[in-house]
Amino acid sequence: MVDIKGFVDSSFIEWEGKITTVLYLPGCNLRCPWCYTIDLVENPDKIPTIPWSKIRDHLINSKTWVDGVVITGGEPTIHKDLPELFAKIKAIGYRIKLDTNGTNPSMLQQLIDEKLVDFISLDIKNQPDPEKYSRAIGLEATEFLKDIKRSISILLTAGVPYEFRTTVVPNIHEIKDVQNITRHTGVCKGYVIQPYKSAETINPKCSNMKPFDKFKLGSFLRTAQRIIPHARVR
Ligand code: SF4
Repeated sequence: MVDIKGFVDSSFIEWEGKITTVLYLPGCNLRCPWCYTIDLVENPDKIPTIPWSKIRDHLINSKTWVDGVVITGGEPTIHKDLPELFAKIKAIGYRIKLDTNGTNPSMLQQLIDEKLVDFISLDIKNQPDPEKYSRAIGLEATEFLKDIKRSISILLTAGVPYEFRTTVVPNIHEIKDVQNITRHTGVCKGYVIQPYKSAETINPKCSNMKPFDKFKLGSFLRTAQRIIPHARVR
């Protein structure tokens, strides 16, 4: 089964309105310059694996007060045996939220078809322009964009609760990017703008930058709300 590298027994912020246990999976196929989960993405072998038995026992013993499990990373969908982990968690009786960068639409479809996932949060890193997207993911984006667009289409039609998210980063994102992202999604159930937070990052040029102020975030939000009225900043 997929290795689990991080484990938060209870969180109030990862799934709105729910107390969750959060599991962090290793590795990622992207290299977003502002990513702060550096070891999880670049050196996952340095992080000890947490035995499934420890997580299983916590989940069994926490059913009266933990509402769900959040699977995040890294990028969880790079792991072929992800459905096996979801099935084990479901068997204990939990609802599951998945965080993903949207690059594996086949995995999303499988998890949806097998009724293994209850909420999907999909990061849209930038407007669907290869040059802009490449800048946001730290890699040539052309090969990923087709899959990400397919993942967006799957969520728009599958009937599983979801949200799209964009982390807005100084020197990478402009108002026009949010405008074109929301034009691409069209009206949808949920769109969240997250401000970059100052931290050590994969690309040192993005480390400890000054985040956007509340006025700029307000401009991003108003732009998104022209197409998605209930878009929010989180
Ligand atoms: S922020 Fe980017 S590099 Fe970091 S885990 Fe998410 S998709 Fe991967």
